[in-house]
Amino acid sequence: ALLARSQTQLPRFPRWVRINNLKANYDLLMNKGVFSEFTPIDDLEKLYPKRDYLPNKVYVDPYVADLLAFAPSAPLLKHPLKKTGAIVFQDRASCVPAQLLDPPRDAYVVDATAAPGNKTTHLASLLGPDSKGKIFAFERDRRRVFALKEAVAAAGAQNLVEIRPSVDFLRSAPWNPSEENGLKKVTHILLDPSCSGSGIVERDEYRFIPTGEPGAKGTRHPDRSSIKGTNTSPSAVEYEDAGPGWKSATEDDRLFALADFQVRIIEHAMRFPNATRITYSTCSVHAQENERVVMAALNTSVARHRGWVTEPRHLNRLKDWPRRGIVEECDGNEQVADSCIRFRPWTDGGIGFFVAVFIRNEQERARLP
Ligand code: SAM
Repeated sequence: ALLARSQTQLPRFPRWVRINNLKANYDLLMNKGVFSEFTPIDDLEKLYPKRDYLPNKVYVDPYVADLLAFAPSAPLLKHPLKKTGAIVFQDRASCVPAQLLDPPRDAYVVDATAAPGNKTTHLASLLGPDSKGKIFAFERDRRRVFALKEAVAAAGAQNLVEIRPSVDFLRSAPWNPSEENGLKKVTHILLDPSCSGSGIVERDEYRFIPTGEPGAKGTRHPDRSSIKGTNTSPSAVEYEDAGPGWKSATEDDRLFALADFQVRIIEHAMRFPNATRITYSTCSVHAQENERVVMAALNTSVARHRGWVTEPRHLNRLKDWPRRGIVEECDGNEQVADSCIRFRPWTDGGIGFFVAVFIRNEQERARLP
């Protein structure tokens, strides 16, 4: 019983560490000896807390560039690289949107819903220290802008990131003449809007155990119990997006309202005149906020008119990732389901997550200046 209790108090999955290219790089850490006390291993399983706990091993993630996993006991919390911002603790799945957005070095990028800034700083790291590009980071909530500013400063990304504080992305207007050298030039857009947070699992204790099997064939609604107990998640406090009166709404109504907002934000991004690539992500396990939002967005007139599609060949490093969208929730469209990535809570390395990539089809892309 004692062993069981001490094991439930252990962190439940590996610690994920993203290398910040603005202050360090993979070569320096892994090949030139900075992390020489850690030996690389190929088996992520071994970094889950078990009897063969391995605090001196490191796993290099094949799916996300510059991402490493360590056993939760690895001595990293006070590591000097953490203090200087050269490494960032970030959940594995949360690194996937920027990895899939894959902006070229000098790209103009939007992070539409940016605070607390994990993905903004990841995008800055991907652009890198020599970039002439720019990231426009929108954050509507004034209180959360502070955290965003701090994250950008800690990452040394101030020169790359232009924060648009307290601005609703849905009101941004790239077609305004004042945006001629700003939003109008944006080609890549990352959308990580508020969601139910039903995929959030805590590192250090069981808050809830998902009973649904995201990604499993035939899955429709994960059990209701999987939504409960997530009110402390960082994004689950954003219910105001669900519109007035959300507090009295049932869980289903809330999900519908969130989904409505999520479709609107994708639609707005699709209107950016020079955009060619959009990622949409949630930390929800519900198809209602995931595949069904993707399908609704693809069926909007702006998507059809401007040639926005989803294609599995755009999944770059994740093209062999085994867990995809749920086909039934994509109205049986396998190509759309295959273009969506799902992360199952715990077993896939951390929180439950969903990411889809939209691209503007070749014909449309050829028409862009
Ligand atoms: N991408 C962030 C990260 O990885 O650190 C997390 C984003 S969190 C899920 C969603 C954020 O979007 C919240 O901070 C919320 O205040 C903001 N938000 C919601 N609706 C927005 C809107 N219409 N315009 C701008 N920001 C919005």
